[in-house]
Amino acid sequence: MSLAPRILVADDDQALTRTLSWILKTNGYECIPHHTGDGLVERLRADPYDLLLLDIMLPGADGLQILAQLKQDPRLRDLPVLVISSVPPEEATVRALGLGAVDFVSKPFRVRELLARLKTHLRAGRELNQARAEARSRSEMVEILQEITATLKPEEIYDILTRRIARALKISRCSLIFAAPGDDQAVVVAAYENPVLRNLPVSLSRYPEVRRAVESGGTVLVTDVATDPLYSTTRAEWEREGRAVPTRSAIAIPFALRDRRTGIFFLRTTAEDTPLNATDMAFAEQVTRAAAQALEKAYDLENAVLGREEMKALAETDPLTGAFNRRALTDRLVQEVERSSRYQTALSCLMIDVDGFKQINDAHGHLAGDAVLRDLGALLRAAIRSVDVVARYGGEEFMVLLPETDRAGARVFAERLRQKVAGTAFGTPERPVHATVSIGISTYPDERVGDGEGLIQVADQNLYKAKLDGRNRYRD
Ligand code: GH3
Ligand code: MG
Ligand code: MG
Repeated sequence: MSLAPRILVADDDQALTRTLSWILKTNGYECIPHHTGDGLVERLRADPYDLLLLDIMLPGADGLQILAQLKQDPRLRDLPVLVISSVPPEEATVRALGLGAVDFVSKPFRVRELLARLKTHLRAGRELNQARAEARSRSEMVEILQEITATLKPEEIYDILTRRIARALKISRCSLIFAAPGDDQAVVVAAYENPVLRNLPVSLSRYPEVRRAVESGGTVLVTDVATDPLYSTTRAEWEREGRAVPTRSAIAIPFALRDRRTGIFFLRTTAEDTPLNATDMAFAEQVTRAAAQALEKAYDLENAVLGREEMKALAETDPLTGAFNRRALTDRLVQEVERSSRYQTALSCLMIDVDGFKQINDAHGHLAGDAVLRDLGALLRAAIRSVDVVARYGGEEFMVLLPETDRAGARVFAERLRQKVAGTAFGTPERPVHATVSIGISTYPDERVGDGEGLIQVADQNLYKAKLDGRNRYRD
């Protein structure tokens, strides 16, 4: 796909769109003309555009109505729309802007002015899209981490890791390799592009980025295989062999395992994919860190070096925080709801989310963020009674189940917890980290709560309220 910003020009004046197309093209834009109001919205839905230049006097449709329609479509709402019109009545301008157009240009327009405005709005639109993409990747990450940490078989973790990351980053090649330092041979244990592959030996001389990752212990990002000096020898070899190499960009992320093996998570793009960048690298690195922990746990289980009880505890525990993992929580929730309805006792649930955790990570680094989660897990476990359950629900979200506790009791507990967290210095004495939590409470029985899922939902809604009301508080 071309990287030039794509502008759809909806104007019935064919001479003008021709001229505009030429001007836009010479200024590095891609210009797609559209001459009527018919099918315009459908066209915008079908393909991605970076901006719409819209004449409000189109045959077959009222431009203002189209604008209103775009603003109601969640996928098109953020598309910047620049309205152009030969009639410059004040009213149309005001209405167009009121309906969400980013700007209004009247015909005849001055080319330089139009270009300047296009540039401004394209930049703003791009930034918004970037923010969206980041938000999406965060929620995707939490899901992937949940799936990985709830898995107990190493082979399943290999598969989840390669499959989920490939899909999240929309790349066609993603594999997991194990190597021992100093060895030229490595073993591919899973590959998204070849789901049946298991334990394929490969020579590292063919993969300079993997070799460097193993030797340096750091992540290697290659944005362009065709020019990166790392590949100069390999490129010459390819040429000699007359091989066309489909790889365009690559990321190799190493992680150490206790048995001294190095795992390398290896991502590649081909010509059809968007090249990998630093954001992709950060995303993949974070998932890889969590996967490495989960893998150690899975190996321990597999080697059965532990007793039966220890194995069960390990299988139910989130490795970072020591809290129950989500799978164990689901089991407990079913049991507790059943018990509570059988004995007609109350059951309360607290959904706890760290406030502004993203900023904590940004300000102190991910390792410090992890430490806050670990300490918060310990704080929660220390605060509960023996019948209560603490689980890590997601990234920085915890859940506490309080059997035989009604709404009033849950409030008291939530407030005590809130104060305790707000008064704790996490991290180290040299570098303390302060954090607060927001809490959503739900209690069973309640007319909105029929089962465990309902209990979670209501707690989640109340957590949302607590966030909206300013954070560092509980809501029920
Ligand atoms: P809010 O007050 O609205 O909850 O803001 P927030 O920043 O906490 O919310 P958001 O959900 O946007 O961000 C949560 C962040 O938590 C994003 C993600 O990168 C980070 N995170 C999730 N899991 C982990 C983890 O295991 N370790 C670390 N260090 N960060 C994590
Ligand atoms: Mg959250
Ligand atoms: Mg949060």
